[in-house]
Amino acid sequence: MRTTSPRAVAHSSRRWEQADHPYAGDTAVLATKHEKLPLIAPPLERAVGLLVEAVAVDTDVLGTFTGDVPRQGPPLDTAIAKARLGMNAAGRALGVASEGSIGPDPAMPLVHSDREIVVLVDDRHGIVVWESHSSWDIVARSTSAGPDEDLGPFLSQAHFPEHQLIVRPNCGAVHPIHKGISALDHLAAAVAECAAAATDGLARIETDLRAHACPSRRAVIARAAERLATRVATRCPACGAPGWGRVDVILGVPCAWCGTEVARPRTEIDGCVACEHRQTRPVVSAEVRADPGECPYCNP
Ligand SMILES: [Zn+2]
Ligand SMILES: [Zn+2]
Repeated sequence: MRTTSPRAVAHSSRRWEQADHPYAGDTAVLATKHEKLPLIAPPLERAVGLLVEAVAVDTDVLGTFTGDVPRQGPPLDTAIAKARLGMNAAGRALGVASEGSIGPDPAMPLVHSDREIVVLVDDRHGIVVWESHSSWDIVARSTSAGPDEDLGPFLSQAHFPEHQLIVRPNCGAVHPIHKGISALDHLAAAVAECAAAATDGLARIETDLRAHACPSRRAVIARAAERLATRVATRCPACGAPGWGRVDVILGVPCAWCGTEVARPRTEIDGCVACEHRQTRPVVSAEVRADPGECPYCNP
């Protein structure tokens, strides 16, 4: 694997000076096992003329939604590692990958959220560009049931069969596990088999969150890919590198009554992935004051 030190990048910023987008006509590989190409390739091709081709690699070694392989590390690191799996397999210096995190929303534990990260790794220039999109419009249901239970209400909440299901024993045994279930007879057989294997006589039935099995997740990946494409198309005003955009948010809008800074975005900072250039951009004008209802002193 080639690596480029930050110093080397800073000294060679001239490479970005061309008028055409640096990735126009170039090809990146997408490491995917689950049919993400139609979600991720079109926006990048439209935005900058970057072609994306899929390379079939087993990204499950980096962790799975079904929990067979535990995930390690932050999602961004996993996405970058996935991209490099594909780059190594195809022998290319440009790679794309996505990684999703689905679970109870930290702010609203009863609601599931899906955060999808899409990265572009460029080992030729030593940069990584990434974007994410979060959504509550994710179907992620689970229940436990015995072999003869009426699953009708659950199946409609779970948007079955458009959204596929996974069935496993509810307690005790880890196997058998049935994935990608999209037919009622398969579901009934899986529930019977898994319930029989469980110590409590129940099967665990849950949404199959793999991208090809979960249309509501595919929509979030597509949105994240569009954001990545916009970001890749946006070039640093100082050095011309792709990937210019928001890198930080500064909170702190003064309370209208007491002046204490309330944790609301005041300024966003745009930055470059290749050089040190930064620009601040006010989110609200300097005169704006926060509602005392949000203030920790006026409304504790
Ligand atoms: Zn106040
Ligand atoms: Zn720059």
